[in-house]
Amino acid sequence: MDLSYILNELGEDREHYFNAVAPPIMQTSNFSFKTVAALGKAFEDEMGGYLYSRGLNPTVDILRKKLAALDGTEDCLVFNNGAAAIFAAIFANIRSGDHIVSVKAPYTWVQRMFDVILPRFNVTVTYIDGTTIENWKAATKPNTSFYYLESPNSWDFALQPIEAVAAFAKEKGITTLIDNSYCSPLYQKPVEMGIDMVMQTATKYIGGHSDTLGGVLCGSHAMMKKIFDSEYLNIGSGIQPFNAWLLIRGLRTLPARIERITQTTAKVVAFMKQHPKVESILFPLDESFPQYALAKQQMKGACGLFTFVLKDPDRDSIVRFCESLQHIMMAVSWGGHESLVIPKCAGIRPADYDPSNKEHRYIRMYCGLEEADYLINDIKQSFNNI
Ligand SMILES: *Cc1c(COP(=O)(O)O)cnc(C)c1O
Repeated sequence: MDLSYILNELGEDREHYFNAVAPPIMQTSNFSFKTVAALGKAFEDEMGGYLYSRGLNPTVDILRKKLAALDGTEDCLVFNNGAAAIFAAIFANIRSGDHIVSVKAPYTWVQRMFDVILPRFNVTVTYIDGTTIENWKAATKPNTSFYYLESPNSWDFALQPIEAVAAFAKEKGITTLIDNSYCSPLYQKPVEMGIDMVMQTATKYIGGHSDTLGGVLCGSHAMMKKIFDSEYLNIGSGIQPFNAWLLIRGLRTLPARIERITQTTAKVVAFMKQHPKVESILFPLDESFPQYALAKQQMKGACGLFTFVLKDPDRDSIVRFCESLQHIMMAVSWGGHESLVIPKCAGIRPADYDPSNKEHRYIRMYCGLEEADYLINDIKQSFNNI
């Protein structure tokens, strides 16, 4: 299916809403029925039609169709945010006594779920360096039922050999879920590599304007129905029609934004690499990246995020660099129009900061839609302050 068709036409039914180019926001909580029989049918299978907007909603459905097509899957569920999508996908597929193998340092709230919530239900998690298939095999136990991948990771960009991990999981009957937020389906399609479920936060590139949250979960229809009938309806974390509408709007310009961000990031990365105050950078499609060959094989591109380390290991220098930026803002998240910076040390108590631990020195940068020179000049003047 053509990307342009997916983003501009798929799922839209314009003759049913006055040939309006933009779809309506179906801001309704409930849907009415003419017969008791029809209402009874909706109760029996809520995923088969419109009953109540905690379940399906027509505006959300336009988005679901587009996102499933982008990932190349049968179906999709859209949540109020990415964390909710991950929670539902995992919770629906584990039971007491199960064991999960996960990449180390997954997204913050995944780690929180694994460390705080799942132990209460007698589910254990082993964190591994997921860069080799051997490590996945070694960590797998007879009660392992779930693999959690995030490739690339959004801080150090560690990759997993997706095809090999998916193939081994299939052999063992283990369910696989990957966080594909870094690449987006434009740059990586994990289901084509054998992964069962793909998640991405729509808060980042799909929304694209830092004005809404959303979470995407794609997979087989059977899997999406299983999750819809339980966690999706029960937790009630489905996306609201207005936010779905904003994400449809974001999708229209996704390829143009990704293309622009990719070009800008390449320029900023090239500038950082030659700068005397920079010790090293981490960017999956840079030749210096430890898994460069695998990145080139699995990913069509890499866009706005990279991490760098200053030569000066002092926490004060990191603080001064971040606080001296005049245009690039300091904030969590990424994927919007605005460039951002975030130092790892912000999450480490000053007394615990260890300059000999390279990770403590990480500064992550996200390149948005500004002109590359505008960003480079801001970084330059900030370097002059350290
Ligand atoms: C932001 C983020 C999430 C969570 O998405 P929310 O929409 O903020 O809940 C998950 N994974 C990665 C890699 C993220 O950057």
